[in-house]
Amino acid sequence: MTSSDVWVISGPSAVGKGTVCARLRELYPDPFYSVSMTTRPPRPGEIDGVSYHFVDVDEFRRLIEAGELLEWAVVHGTHYYGTPRGPVLAAVAHGRPVVLEIDLQGARQVKRNLPSARLVFLAPPSWDELVSRLRGRGTEDEATQERRLTTARLELEAQHEADFVVENADIEETVAALVSLMGL
Ligand code: 5GP
Repeated sequence: MTSSDVWVISGPSAVGKGTVCARLRELYPDPFYSVSMTTRPPRPGEIDGVSYHFVDVDEFRRLIEAGELLEWAVVHGTHYYGTPRGPVLAAVAHGRPVVLEIDLQGARQVKRNLPSARLVFLAPPSWDELVSRLRGRGTEDEATQERRLTTARLELEAQHEADFVVENADIEETVAALVSLMGL
């Protein structure tokens, strides 16, 4: 088993990466679903160690210095996010497929560190649909939404970097496409 079994699911903010990966996990619990580190405060209902490992900035910087992150990025110009290296490499060593749900900056680093990792870019059916999903989410204020849309536009232009592009119009269809790609 090689790092070709590492699947990176990326795409612009609000495209539905989190929802798609949660559904994939529900249906196919066997792959290793990486739990990211973040300095973002938990949202209501999020559980430390399950949704994310919530750490402070000092701890995050220590992890970077110690080389304990496979990739990391400051996402949307605010908080640090990163993938713990050890659990991913352990899963690969045990022949377990790995799923990472991360932003495009992180996806590029994973491709550099593990060239045979596969990058799946989730694309919205249209720009208008992405805008309405982002605005409709209601979790971010106006300024944050605008910042995320600017980033999303740049990310959409980078989709040619992906090994596969899957349009996320319908969650079940998207999950079925991932299952088929990943051979689950
Ligand atoms: P949220 O704060 O809404 O949970 O996530 C914000 C963004 O951070 C999402 O685009 C998500 O894909 C990205 N993200 C989550 N975990 C990681 C990670 O470990 N590394 C990177 N680079 N991005 C991440």
